[in-house]
Amino acid sequence: MSDHADVVVVGGGVQGAAVALHLLEAGVRDVLLLERDEPFEATSGAGAGFVGIWAVAFPTFGKEEVAVEHYGINFYRRLQEQGYDVDFAQNGFLFVGANEESLLGLRGMDRHPLDPDTHLVDGKRVEELTDGVILADEGIAGAYQPAGAHVYTKKVGAAMIARISALGGRIEPRRPVTGLRVRGERIVGVETTTGAVSSDSVVLSAGAWNNELLRPHGAFLPFVPLLTSRIITEPLGVPPSLPAVLLFGATSDAPVLWIRQHEGGLLWGGVYMNHPRDTLLGLDKLPTRFDETPIDGVLECQRAAAGASRFMPAFGRYRSMTLKHGAPCYTPDSRALVGSVPGIEGLYAIAGDNEGGITHGPGFGKALADHLVHGFSELTHLDAWQLDRFDGQYTTDVEVAAAVNADSVVQQET
Ligand SMILES: Cc1cc2nc3c(=O)[nH]c(=O)nc-3n(C[C@H](O)[C@H](O)[C@H](O)COP(=O)(O)OP(=O)(O)OC[C@H]3O[C@@H](n4cnc5c(N)ncnc54)[C@H](O)[C@@H]3O)c2cc1C
Repeated sequence: MSDHADVVVVGGGVQGAAVALHLLEAGVRDVLLLERDEPFEATSGAGAGFVGIWAVAFPTFGKEEVAVEHYGINFYRRLQEQGYDVDFAQNGFLFVGANEESLLGLRGMDRHPLDPDTHLVDGKRVEELTDGVILADEGIAGAYQPAGAHVYTKKVGAAMIARISALGGRIEPRRPVTGLRVRGERIVGVETTTGAVSSDSVVLSAGAWNNELLRPHGAFLPFVPLLTSRIITEPLGVPPSLPAVLLFGATSDAPVLWIRQHEGGLLWGGVYMNHPRDTLLGLDKLPTRFDETPIDGVLECQRAAAGASRFMPAFGRYRSMTLKHGAPCYTPDSRALVGSVPGIEGLYAIAGDNEGGITHGPGFGKALADHLVHGFSELTHLDAWQLDRFDGQYTTDVEVAAAVNADSVVQQET
């Protein structure tokens, strides 16, 4: 079977869906989205769905990230208004500090130049904003960001796929791309398990698996996939008005827990620092699903939550957990990789999501689609996210991991 598309997009997570959707909106007629599994089954389906101005917490972020962050919030609001239910709620972000060190970190967010609306709040206000879910324990304080929102990624996936179909895009689930077809220094299409597709524009948005497709062509994108997990509890009477909470310093070994309301229960998790976070490192071939990920990291999060239950009683009340694991991909400077793949004309990538792809994906998709169609984007230029900005300094994921662990923004924040 031979096929052709104006643009082939590889990978049906939030970033691939975003670029496909915006290519169609920008007027490209024949967009083909190829997904190995079902859309949003990998990391996107595990996302917590916090969508806000992360630039207040990431020192390397600039006006480019802020532009796509605002775009992301508005994108999901629009989807909801268009009748696609994505559980969009703009309850704000509440960064909460539970020890001295994390409270110091919050000070840097107050009236941050990239989001002057983010402001410090005392413990009493934290209790009010959370409707008593977090108690005004001595020593608790926060920074509140009114712009922050959240969505449910499973519904986002269904909505984006429906919108792509409505705009005439072609989506082929269960059609893995097995290789890139490159002639000279130009992309001419992709190979799949059911035949080749010719195209002179291909966008790689295969998440943790991007480098597997690039490796035969001597290319490497400087990111490292690290496992993390989302936990959903049974309904606990958590109010729907709860802001999306980022809790720092609950215990010494868990740098951050993120928590929000979902169907009356808690949707939460955290960056765990131990096994199985690093288990994908150095593998030539990653597993295609993360269902069988060991739950050691989840247990680590549970210990941190137990520590936080003194001021957040709901953490002492749940009895049931649903888990989903994903592999966000981190870069040495926490900024994404979006743009042309050097050395292969017509090949583009959206990679290195730094655990922010639900927020940034729509904006990256828009900026890259505009770039392909018009040569520029009014939303933002792509220079900040150039794929070759590290000048070949990193050649393996193990090297990137060393840089990421040394410079972990999360660690600095706490
Ligand atoms: C627990 C957790 C919490 C998170 N919380 C947040 C949050 O609150 N806010 C936020 O902004 N971000 C969050 N993230 C990060 C966010 O989920 C990711 O940044 C985002 O989902 C990455 O999307 P992606 O499209 O790049 O990757 P993926 O969703 O992994 O999509 C890549 C797709 O490519 C497909 N694929 C791979 N190889 C091939 C191939 N050869 N052929 C065809 N298809 C292929 C895969 O099957 C997959 O569907 C979180 C992530 C996790 C795991």
